[in-house]
Amino acid sequence: MGDYSAFGLVRHNKARVMSAAEAIERLGAGNGLPSSVLPYGNGRSYGDTCLNDAGTLIDMRPMNRIIAFDADSGVVTAQAGLMLSDLIAHVAPQGWFPPVVPGTQFITLGGAIANDVHGKNHHRRGTFGCHVVSFTLLRSDGRTRRCSLDENAELFRATIGGMGLTGLIVTATVQLMKVGAADVDERVRGFSGLGEYFDLAEQADAENEYAVAWIDQLAGGARAGRGFLLTANHATDGEPFKPASRRRLSVPFRPPVNLLNRWSLRLFNGAFAWQKGRAEGIRRASYASYFFPLDAVRHWNRLYGPRGLLQHQSVVPFASARQTIPAMMAAARDAGQASFLTVLKRFGDTASPGLLSFPRPGYTLTLDFSNAGAATNALFERLDRMTVDAGGAVNPYKDARMGAALFDASFGRWRDVEALRDPVFLSDFWRRTALQLGSSQNGGRHAAE
Ligand SMILES: Cc1cc2nc3c(=O)[nH]c(=O)nc-3n(C[C@H](O)[C@H](O)[C@H](O)COP(=O)(O)OP(=O)(O)OC[C@H]3O[C@@H](n4cnc5c(N)ncnc54)[C@H](O)[C@@H]3O)c2cc1C
Repeated sequence: MGDYSAFGLVRHNKARVMSAAEAIERLGAGNGLPSSVLPYGNGRSYGDTCLNDAGTLIDMRPMNRIIAFDADSGVVTAQAGLMLSDLIAHVAPQGWFPPVVPGTQFITLGGAIANDVHGKNHHRRGTFGCHVVSFTLLRSDGRTRRCSLDENAELFRATIGGMGLTGLIVTATVQLMKVGAADVDERVRGFSGLGEYFDLAEQADAENEYAVAWIDQLAGGARAGRGFLLTANHATDGEPFKPASRRRLSVPFRPPVNLLNRWSLRLFNGAFAWQKGRAEGIRRASYASYFFPLDAVRHWNRLYGPRGLLQHQSVVPFASARQTIPAMMAAARDAGQASFLTVLKRFGDTASPGLLSFPRPGYTLTLDFSNAGAATNALFERLDRMTVDAGGAVNPYKDARMGAALFDASFGRWRDVEALRDPVFLSDFWRRTALQLGSSQNGGRHAAE
């Protein structure tokens, strides 16, 4: 049996698994689906939006064919299980690139749409969903609907960012972005504190396709908030595409203890700072090293040991960011919790067609913690409150524990998605949040029916 966990490895998958081909065959034969199913992409969501312990997961990965690619217009149609890495390898030699890529290329096309993922260029391109021309959606009634802004528009909007609850995306058509080369010209700039970062960030966005900051969350006192701003633009000369090296380090098994303690983190952050510090200035960087640095080590999430890793990603509006983000980082330090990877990005104001899309104008902070049980929970509740008080939102597809009220506060349009949810599609996340709200407030699909 394959691997059907979520990326945080906080718990083992208990769901039964069925292939996409079997699900499609059953529907074609009029046999229906089991009572609770959820599409599974490549499990790169951190928490339980891709899990369905009480039911069945539908594995989309074998459905990974590119159906059509027009190298003049950059429009590609593919099956939803296609991996982003394979899409890039196919289209980049012809001068095209996905307009939005997250921090890993090991995600499926269906997962990119269902979570409406964002990249380091939200300020220019918005989310992945902004570039989806159309998709076909198979529902448990056995009917396939073509969805776009002009056809079944409500289902289109509910499915983009709809976390797999509206049906099975079978194929999708996406408009790619023309580039001179997949590789980028990267500029690394150090900053000594968050104030300096905020002074640089807006201009960096205005001048560059991509921008992201890595912060040394462990540095306290006068060095608190120090880090590096990494901006980049696709190269305009050189080969359009050099394949990424296939040699990758790997963590072969899950160690019985968490190897990421305060000392190893200090070492990592120090080494990262040293390496990046040396490279200050503009340099040509491979697309893999700029966009997907964490992909270089397979199974790095196993280093967090038997209790796994919890990520907290928040977005707070511009007006409150300068106060809230330093306060959130200080809260983590005060709680004695060290974030292994701390990333700060600026979202722009391009609206997504998706009803439950996470990005909104402001700054987004991502913190990775090893799961220390109650202590981490208490910290996350504090971070949640700070986010909501600042008028922000917490990312559901990075989450494994947010409460129903927090979800409601951040994603008021969940009721519209619930009303369009396929009756047999469910996730553990949705059971924990929306369905609780549905029963306590008499909202959701039952009220709508
Ligand atoms: C190292 C790392 C870095 C990351 N960086 C970013 C980042 O910068 N920005 C960002 O936005 N995200 C980021 N992510 C999160 C990741 O990009 C998303 O969670 C992505 O959606 C995972 O895709 P997947 O194919 O693995 O889908 P899964 O995680 O398996 O599933 C995601 C959701 O999509 C649904 N789904 C999957 N396939 C289909 C289908 N065919 N039809 C309908 N629904 C479907 C599932 O039901 C589930 O709700 C990162 C993750 C990792 C591990």
